[in-house]
Amino acid sequence: MAIHLFVYGHGAGDPGALGFGTNERDFNRIRLHSYILKWAKQLKNNTIEFYDVSGNKDLYQDTANGWGLYSISPKKYASVTEFHEDAAGLTATGGHIIINYQFNPDNQDLALALPIRDIIGWWGSVKNTKGINKRDNLLNCNVAAQRGIPYRLAELAFITSNRDMTILNRELDEMAKRIVEAVTGEKLSNSSGNGNTSTCKTHTVVKGDTLYSIAKKYSTTVDNLKLWNNLKNSNIVVGQVLQVERSTQISHVVVKGDTLWSISQKYKTTVAKIKKDNNLKTDVLSIGQKLKV
Ligand SMILES: [Zn+2]
Repeated sequence: MAIHLFVYGHGAGDPGALGFGTNERDFNRIRLHSYILKWAKQLKNNTIEFYDVSGNKDLYQDTANGWGLYSISPKKYASVTEFHEDAAGLTATGGHIIINYQFNPDNQDLALALPIRDIIGWWGSVKNTKGINKRDNLLNCNVAAQRGIPYRLAELAFITSNRDMTILNRELDEMAKRIVEAVTGEKLSNSSGNGNTSTCKTHTVVKGDTLYSIAKKYSTTVDNLKLWNNLKNSNIVVGQVLQVERSTQISHVVVKGDTLWSISQKYKTTVAKIKKDNNLKTDVLSIGQKLKV
């Protein structure tokens, strides 16, 4: 049984980069984590542990203060993977894997770069290096190398890119599954096939598109497109991926603080209907649980 440590970047007063109504600390610990946890529970030969999901700890600050990576035994974990989102101008897009400059990427580094390539695309600077960026100036990366801890840092996308975050939010379930598979090398089977928007028809915005022209093309309305894509106005950008039909099945992954009542309000349904559709015998929910809503 190999144990892998997942680290969500930032925390303890440092939110990391900001963008599109969220920040790195919260996006990773709340959104990404709920999906990671769901897939991690399916593992048979591996275990994933988390450095911090509360937001009260930051591995970077802890290492800088002499514990953090210094307190982790190199023998305990088969791997340590730290998750971040990048920040730059509005047009910067793509993700990448960071490793220490002294190393060549191992199979796990290369495997982890693939879901980023397939879902978000690689950041321009790593297109010729299989998604890998070697760095000599990152504290955790250097301390891990010095202590013999197999470590990598994944920048999943640009949090400052509307395109990247639209795709990442929509494909988060798939991204989480493939991350868990890449890090552990274990193949996971699809859960009962009740994914939501991944089965939905989408349209990638090209030059000249307007919400009106897209609505016409897919026989729907501008209002529907705004609703399905959480758009506050009619602005769209080239490369943005829009959902162009209603999801036939919407699902909700339970996060900390959720109750059946709060979920029923969010999706304009009732507690009784959620319980019936999900065969729930009690009102008790567990974090990471996926509910039809
Ligand atoms: Zn970061």
